[in-house]
Amino acid sequence: MNIAIVGAGIVGVTTAYELARDGHSVTVFEQRSAIAEEASFATGGLLAPGPLVPWSAPGASQAFSVWGRQATLRIGRSITTTDLAWLHRWRRAARAYTRSHAPQPPLVALERLARYSHQHLHTLANELDLQFERSAGALLLLRSPADAIALRPMVQALRDAGTAANEVDANTARHIEPGLCAATPLVGALHVPSGEVGNCRQFALLLRQEAQHLGAQFQFNTTVTRLGHTPASVQLSGEAQARRFDAVVLCAGVASAALLQPLGLRLPLVALHGCAISAPLREALYAPCSAVIDARHQVSITRLGQRIRVSGGAELGRTGPAAHPSILRTLYQVLNDWFPGGAQLSGSVQEWRGARPALPDGPPIIGASGLPGVWLNLGHGASGWALACGSARALTDTLAGRTPDISLEGLDAQRFR
Ligand SMILES: Cc1cc2nc3c(=O)[nH]c(=O)nc-3n(C[C@H](O)[C@H](O)[C@H](O)COP(=O)(O)OP(=O)(O)OC[C@H]3O[C@@H](n4cnc5c(N)ncnc54)[C@H](O)[C@@H]3O)c2cc1C
Repeated sequence: MNIAIVGAGIVGVTTAYELARDGHSVTVFEQRSAIAEEASFATGGLLAPGPLVPWSAPGASQAFSVWGRQATLRIGRSITTTDLAWLHRWRRAARAYTRSHAPQPPLVALERLARYSHQHLHTLANELDLQFERSAGALLLLRSPADAIALRPMVQALRDAGTAANEVDANTARHIEPGLCAATPLVGALHVPSGEVGNCRQFALLLRQEAQHLGAQFQFNTTVTRLGHTPASVQLSGEAQARRFDAVVLCAGVASAALLQPLGLRLPLVALHGCAISAPLREALYAPCSAVIDARHQVSITRLGQRIRVSGGAELGRTGPAAHPSILRTLYQVLNDWFPGGAQLSGSVQEWRGARPALPDGPPIIGASGLPGVWLNLGHGASGWALACGSARALTDTLAGRTPDISLEGLDAQRFR
C-alpha cells in the first residue's frame, strides 16, 4: 500500500519503520525540519515499566491535587473548556483507580502495551544493532508511608502482569543507588530490576535511518493542513491539490485532535505540559546509575550517558512559551534532595518544556479511526517513548488485517464515543 504518516515524533518514526518493513511505500510528513523536535525531544527517558512514568495514567502513580502551593497539576491561564472537560474525566478516573481494589481496565491495557513495547524495542535494538544511551533498573523512592499508599494501584497492575516490583528498605535502596543523599529522609523504595532508561531521540534518529534504508521517505518543513477520507488524502500547506494515498496514519501528537475535528471525529486529547532539565554529569559517584523516581513529587531523575535528566511537572492550559518557574523549581529541588553535587548546574544546562499528548484515561489510541483509510496512533501521553515500538507494531499488524501479538482492547477510538 501507499501510506502517508503525519508526524515524525517517536510514534511516527517507529510507525514508518514498521510499515516500511512490512513492504509498504511510506511517506512521512513533518512540519519541523527534523524528527523528534516536539514531545519526543527531551523525554525523561523512562522505558519501563510504562505505568511507572509519572502522569502515565490517572491515579496510577500520583496523589492528585490541583489547588494550592503543593498542587501536583498546575492550571495555566489559557485553560480551555476542552481542557476542563478533560480534567473532569481524568479526576473521575483517578478516583475510580484509587477506590478500587482491582486495577482498572485502562491501567491493565497500558501495562500490557508497555510490556509488549519494551520486548519489541529489545528485539529491534538487537536485530538492528542500535546503539543508544541506556541503563537498567528503576527505583521509586518513598519519602513517607503515604507515598506507598498512593502507588498501590500501579504496583498491583505490575505484579498482576508478572513484573517484579520489590519493596526494599532505605538501606537497600541506597545500596542499589549509592549516590542517593544520606541526609534526605527515605522510608523505603520500590525496586523494579527490569526497569530501563533509554535516550528516546537517539533511538528515533537511528530508527529513522533504518526506515529510510527500507525506502521510507521523510518530507520535512511540510505541514499537513487537512486530512481526507474515501479516498484517504493529505492536503499540504502551499499545494492546491490534496495528495491521495491508500491509507493515512495520524501520529501528530497534540496536533492530532485539530486535524480530526473537521472529519467529525472529536477526541478528548489535550496538551499536558511538563519540563525537563538536562545537565552534564559532575561526579558519577553522586549521580543516579539508572532511573530514580520521587513518588511524592512525581519527578524522575535519570542517567543518560554523561548527563543527568530531571523531568516532571504537569500543567494544563499554557501560560507562555517558557518552562513554568514553579515546575522548574521543583525539579531543581528534587535533584538537590537526592543527588546534590551529581550534576554541573552552571553553564550548559538545558531547560525544556514539552506537551504530552494526553487522553483522560491514560492509554493511547491505536487502530482504525472509523473513517475509511484513516488510521490512528496517537495520545501516548506521558509514556510515548515506553509505548512507541509496540504501538507501531500493533498498528502495522492491524492495518495489514493480521491479529496483533497483544489484545488492543481498551486502545480503540470507540471508547470515547
Ligand atoms: C517532560 C516530559 C517527560 C517525558 N518523559 C517520558 C518518559 O520518561 N518516558 C516516556 O515513555 N515518555 C515520556 N514523555 C512522553 C513522551 O515524550 C510522549 O508521549 C511522546 O514523545 C509522544 O510522541 P509523539 O510522536 O506522539 O508526539 P511528538 O513527538 O510531539 O510528535 C508529533 C509530531 O507531529 C508533527 N506534526 C504535528 N502536526 C503536524 C502537521 N499538521 N503536519 C506535519 N507534522 C505535524 C510535530 O511537529 C511532531 O514532530 C515525556 C514527556 C514530557 C513532556
